[in-house]
Parts: sequence; C-alpha cells; structure tokens
Amino acid sequence: MSQQSSSASSSSAAAHLAGARVAVIGAGQMGNGIAHVFAAAGHPVTMIDVNADALQKGRDTIAKNLDRQVKKGAVDAETAAAALARVATSTAFDAVHDARVVVEAATERSDLKFRIFEELDRLAPADAILASNTSSIAITEIAARTKRPEQVIGMHFMNPVPVMQLVEVIRGLATSDATTATVMALATALGKTPVEVNDFPGFVANRILMPMINEAIYCVMEGVGTPEAIDTVMKLGMNHPMGPLTLADFIGLDTCLAILEVLHDGLGDPKYRPCPLLRKYVAAGWLGRKSGRGFYQY
Ligand code: NAD
Repeated sequence: MSQQSSSASSSSAAAHLAGARVAVIGAGQMGNGIAHVFAAAGHPVTMIDVNADALQKGRDTIAKNLDRQVKKGAVDAETAAAALARVATSTAFDAVHDARVVVEAATERSDLKFRIFEELDRLAPADAILASNTSSIAITEIAARTKRPEQVIGMHFMNPVPVMQLVEVIRGLATSDATTATVMALATALGKTPVEVNDFPGFVANRILMPMINEAIYCVMEGVGTPEAIDTVMKLGMNHPMGPLTLADFIGLDTCLAILEVLHDGLGDPKYRPCPLLRKYVAAGWLGRKSGRGFYQY
C-alpha cells in the first residue's frame, strides 16, 4: 500500500469510530485513565468493574484529573464537565451491548482475562473490536478464547494514561490488518502515538523494563544499596525521570510480579526469574503506591 493510501485508510478508520461508544473493563488506575482519554476525545464511555467501590473511586479520579487539567489551563471547565458527563459506570457486563470498541483493563491474571474475553465475545456486538491493556499476557491466547480472533488486539496504554504519549499496539497471530489500522488510527485520534509490535512475552515495553526493575530489586535484597541510593543512581546517572523502584511502586508490585512470571514462563530463560524479595513484598500485601507501602511508604 502506498503511504498516501495507507494514511487515507487509517484516517477513514478513525472517522468511522469518531464518537462511537467505548466500554472499559476495570476501573483501577489504568481503566479510569483509559476512560478519561476516550471521554475527553468525545466518546461516550461505559466503565465496568465487578467492584462498585472501584467504579466510584475510578470516576472520582477522572473528576480530580480533569479538574487538575482545568487548573493548569489545558482544558476549559465546560469541556471537562462535558467529558465527565460522558462517563457512565456499571457492574454488569451486558453494558457492553452497544460498544463499538471494548478496552479491557482488569487485574493482570490470565485466567481472569480469558473469562472476561469469553463474556465480551458473547455480549459485545459482532463487529466490535476487543482490545486488552494487558502488560504481558499473550494477545494470541486471549484472542483464541473468542470467535473473533481477527478483531482482538493489544492496546497497551502507559501509566498515567492522560499524561503518557505511548500506546503499544500488539498484533496477535490472528489480528487482521483492518483491526490494526483502526486501532492505530483510534489511538492517534486520542492524541497518542501508537507503535505497532508483535505478540511475544512482555511485548517490547515490559520485555525491556521489567528485567531492569527486577535487577534493582536484587540490588536491594543483596544490600548493594538502599532504594533511595539505587533510584538516585538511575535518575542522575542514566537521566531516567524516575528511579526503577519508585516506578515499580507506581506500577504496582503485584503487576510487576505477574509480568515477570509471564516473561519467565514464556521465554524460559532464568534471567527473567522474579526476585524473591519481590515475591515477599507481594505476599505481605506491600503492593506499592496503591496499598500505601512498597519500596517506599506513601
Ligand atoms: P488495578 O489493580 O488498579 O485495577 C484492576 C481493576 O480490575 C480493579 O478495579 C478490579 O476491581 C477490576 N477487576 C478485577 N476483576 C474484574 C472483572 N472480572 N471484571 C471487571 N473488573 C475486574 O490494576 P491496573 O494497574 O489498573 O492494571 C490493569 C491492567 O492494566 C492490567 O492488565 C495491567 O497489567 C495493565 N497495565 C498496568 C499498568 C500500570 O502501570 N499499572 C500499565 C500498563 C498496563
């Protein structure tokens, strides 16, 4: 395809979803951020979670983040209020019945995601695209749980979603060119920069990031340095905006462990083995910022 016709077809793909209803599964730190950016781009959004408190907290977070954008002068108060008004919430999965795109951002567990995609396949319109924000679980395996694997794709937003520019778009083995073009165009219409990658454990972002975080945790366990020292070395020495342990706490230590397990199982190389100290923290419920304690206290 020539570059001209390729960009023409992706802009028509975006146009055909302009203002379309989007459902987001999971209202946690990623789910509410994803709902926020779709609503801000003019999409009516249904945010669905099994936990009613998580839905309330998710909606409150969207309101707080929109308010912050108003105070910074990034959006006006009327636009922010209109965006918030586009976000509906539900604890029932059949609320996906009129969604053209579903983005799943539930807890990083493969059994859970497989079950969710079986449900979504049954309840969402036949032509809807089913995307997962998974950090590491194989899109090919998730897609195989549905009768529409060509319409299943990874749409991996970065945390915090309203701020971060990248969307890693992951093609499963069966994902069609049309689905990929539509999702690339959709991410662009959200003001993000999509990057297309193929489905291997951890994709690109976490294949490279998680071994670094894991190594930083080994450095803590072996007493090479304190968390503060390790983070300062990486910030000032490598010009990283955030040290690896601060970032791990921000991502969630349970999510980091789940991703490392996927890398370890999927690639079979001992270099990906999760650090025992990470396992211990997760077992203790020290999950980072979201639980109030991880490598730091919040
Ligand atoms: P989180 O723990 O903040 O939120 C997960 C939410 O999923 C919770 O509100 C929970 O109630 C809900 N949930 C659990 N089971 C559900 C079900 N059956 N149906 C509907 N909702 C359900 O987690 P998070 O950090 O938002 O991560 C969500 C996803 O995003 C994971 O797949 C994770 O790997 C991915 N991700 C996370 C980050 C990050 O930095 N945290 C970055 C990119 C991608």
